[in-house]
Amino acid sequence: MSFTSPHASCLILGAGLAGLSLADALLRQGVRSPIVVADQRDDFSNDRTWGFWDVHPHPYRGLVQQRWSEWSFRSGATTYRQSSPSSPYCYLPADRFYEDVLARLRAAPNCTLLLGTTIGDVHEDAAGVTVQTSAGDLEASQLFDALGTHGPTWPSTMPQPGPGVLCQRFLGWFVTAPEPVFDAACVTLMDFDVTPNGELHFVYVLPFSPTQALVEDTTIGLDGVPLPERRAEVERYLAHRYGVTSWQVEREEVAAIPMLHVDRSAHASQRLIPVGTAAGTVRPSSGYAFVRTQLQVAALAARVAAGQPSAVPVGRNLDAMLDRVFLDVLQHDPEAFSSNLMMLGKRLTGDRFARFMMDAASPLDLLSMIAALPKSPFVRGAVRVSRERVGR
Ligand SMILES: Cc1cc2nc3c(=O)[nH]c(=O)nc-3n(C[C@H](O)[C@H](O)[C@H](O)COP(=O)(O)OP(=O)(O)OC[C@H]3O[C@@H](n4cnc5c(N)ncnc54)[C@H](O)[C@@H]3O)c2cc1C
Repeated sequence: MSFTSPHASCLILGAGLAGLSLADALLRQGVRSPIVVADQRDDFSNDRTWGFWDVHPHPYRGLVQQRWSEWSFRSGATTYRQSSPSSPYCYLPADRFYEDVLARLRAAPNCTLLLGTTIGDVHEDAAGVTVQTSAGDLEASQLFDALGTHGPTWPSTMPQPGPGVLCQRFLGWFVTAPEPVFDAACVTLMDFDVTPNGELHFVYVLPFSPTQALVEDTTIGLDGVPLPERRAEVERYLAHRYGVTSWQVEREEVAAIPMLHVDRSAHASQRLIPVGTAAGTVRPSSGYAFVRTQLQVAALAARVAAGQPSAVPVGRNLDAMLDRVFLDVLQHDPEAFSSNLMMLGKRLTGDRFARFMMDAASPLDLLSMIAALPKSPFVRGAVRVSRERVGR
């Protein structure tokens, strides 16, 4: 089958968060050569909820639907509240983002959207890159892989999310309660008052109003738990924490986000650049990726506009090292890890915590965080991580 679209100067595989953000950033940078964005999907309904702290500027601040300057860590009768009026926690529903960006891309004369197009093999040679797709072969001088863990640049040595792979797994319900029960001023970031299941287990609550909230059963571990068990846990939690016995579920959100250190060192191609999840934007210790993706695509688009496209590394080395130690300690005793998070909730200020979560911690923030945590498990974790890295 032959393809009738113009030879793309920039071909973006994937119209998810990273692919769409990159196309939008290229237009913002004034790129006027042909941009093609291809994705198998043509449904851009509200398939996910992005939460993040407002620490870094990004172009989608205006799309944030709700902000909270307080959040809490809970366990039994204990609650630690943190607040940060200057870096509130933000809620951005995916459909708002998709609609906003797709409208701009559709209106741009140099941008072509190839939706409902499945991506196949990718071939690279001196002249450019050719991609086999269900719509025929696509050719481009510059290819960006925003296909997540299924694209051509995902390292073959890295696992796909699945049983036995460390993931953050969750099932969330958008619920409406018959009476006002939620504290609409404060996000419950982690409530460890849950049924132990061998993994790090907590419930996350985004309260949209006193009667509406997203209530998410979350685990971090290798295997997760079956979905019926998660639904039962959300039901138990609603009854136990809020005393509600009837509610309406407007929507269910389910995901498994891999918590992996994506090693990009073997990937050297200048024509085929990973972006988003494929490039390791999902922070291994938290599963947050929205803001990292915005920082990455802004830098990448600037390089493309300057005629010097190259892969943009994600995150800072020190944060990556701390993440490794965090995950090591977590994996050694997942259930006990909740007490460390409670300590962070108790001892860190909201500003410091928000900066740490968004890769913006200052040296003093990091010292405060280290001081807040118990020393011996983390020192042992640091030793194990160092030995493992030296042994490679
Ligand atoms: C339910 C959910 C909630 C999340 N919540 C948060 C949050 O609160 N905060 C946060 O910071 N991060 C969150 N994340 C993590 C992260 O921000 C998102 O996963 C984000 O969407 C990743 O962006 P991406 O572009 O790398 O991947 P995606 O957005 O998943 O995009 C990948 C695209 O590739 C396409 N694709 C894949 N394979 C093919 C193929 N063979 N052919 C054609 N197209 C293909 C897919 O259709 C998809 O559109 C969440 C993730 C999920 C799943």
